Amino acid sequence: MSQAPSNPITNLSAGEHPLPSYLQSDNLGPWGNYLQQVDRVIPHLGSLARWAETLKRPKRVLIVDVPIHMDDGTVAHFEGYRVQHNVSRGPGKGGVRFHQDVTLSEVMALSAWMSVKNAAVNVPYGGAKGGIRVDPKKLSRGELERMTRRYTSEIGIIIGPNKDIPAPDVNTNEQIMAWMMDTYSMNTGSTATGVVTGKPVDLGGSLGRREATGRGVYTVGAEAARHIGLEISGSRLAVQGFGNVGGVAGKLFADAGALVVAVQDHGGTIYREAGLDVPALLRHVAEHGSVGGFPQAEVLANDSFWDVDCDILIPAALEQQITAANAHRIKARMIIEGANGPTTPAADDILRDRNVLVLPDVIANAGGVTVSYFEWVQDFSSFFWDEEEINARLVKIMKDAFAGVWNVAQEQKVSLRTATFIVACKRILHTRELRGLYP
Ligand code: NAD
Repeated sequence: MSQAPSNPITNLSAGEHPLPSYLQSDNLGPWGNYLQQVDRVIPHLGSLARWAETLKRPKRVLIVDVPIHMDDGTVAHFEGYRVQHNVSRGPGKGGVRFHQDVTLSEVMALSAWMSVKNAAVNVPYGGAKGGIRVDPKKLSRGELERMTRRYTSEIGIIIGPNKDIPAPDVNTNEQIMAWMMDTYSMNTGSTATGVVTGKPVDLGGSLGRREATGRGVYTVGAEAARHIGLEISGSRLAVQGFGNVGGVAGKLFADAGALVVAVQDHGGTIYREAGLDVPALLRHVAEHGSVGGFPQAEVLANDSFWDVDCDILIPAALEQQITAANAHRIKARMIIEGANGPTTPAADDILRDRNVLVLPDVIANAGGVTVSYFEWVQDFSSFFWDEEEINARLVKIMKDAFAGVWNVAQEQKVSLRTATFIVACKRILHTRELRGLYP
């Protein structure tokens, strides 16, 4: 047998390009989970599989030091990241997370899931994500503003309306997007509303953006429920995370007649057999910052959340919540992933064997980036649409994308996650092939 010629620079044989250790899947953090998801799709990519390694390497990783003056006169340093996973289909796009557990592995995985998600709903973006390892609840408003502005300045070399467009994620909101937009604009010398999405409506934000992710979760959930003969009205729902995504999704399901029986957030787990009063719970969270202490409910131990008798489960907090350790306890018939990466590949297998339908993050929570795309388009044309038009366009894109994925899953007898990866990765790798390699 003839030996493949060895590369004189890397000393590797042709076809042998091992990932650097920090990119390998034996790091079973979120990036490891993502790599396993990619491995499951490669056999379905046909001739495009030759480009698949592109999916396993982020295009660009920026780690920044974010030093700020604290109110007490000391100087604090925070570690921040911006990762552009893939920009073959357009500028990078993805949120910014402020959380004490943010790591580079997490931001890399989140950026990759953005590439897949943006391609799944066919908006003209690549994937990116950012974050700072910080508990923002421990900062004063002034400290939060200074940290946001310094971070924006530090990542300013790679973001821009045509390069990479951040948006809100966990613990970031319209105000933080306003500070990011202002900082970038001050640094570049002109107002650049299109550099971030999820801004306040008075600053070039879009109507319907705040509710868009939750609305998308509801839309695909209702479509899937129809396919499996599950009636939303009267169904029992459990929601983990009651912020932007979980709160809005819970409200829309309750409006459609579902009983939201259990809610868990960072402050605890509450339960009411007859269904929680969702508008009252949303007011309680707005006032107290958590579902903890909500009067009209029983308190459950956090771990008991996974045993709750429900038809639909919406994880809408953080990644790696549904694992091999709890997947067999879940009673729901359908899981709608509002959060990014809430289910590990091992849990996916257990749920498949138990016939639990999982609507994966990369399609289920794509409503937010879809309306972010509308916001960016409106900013470029300085012409703003009304909310009815925005919601109608959002619902159409989500329904069409979901129908496409559902058909692929049926035809190829794969999970909805693998089906979404098939649709999206083919789009990404097709543009990679068309563009070719430079030089
Ligand atoms: P958010 O900050 O508005 O809410 C986060 C929620 O998670 C809060 O209720 C918080 O209490 C809860 N939480 C935090 N730690 C928890 C823990 N250990 N256990 C249980 N609950 C916990 O954030 P969000 O924007 O609603 O984002 C939630 C998820 O949805 C994230 O995975 C995010 O990446 C994803 N997502 C958000 C958007 C968006 O448009 N905001 C879009 C797509 C996906």
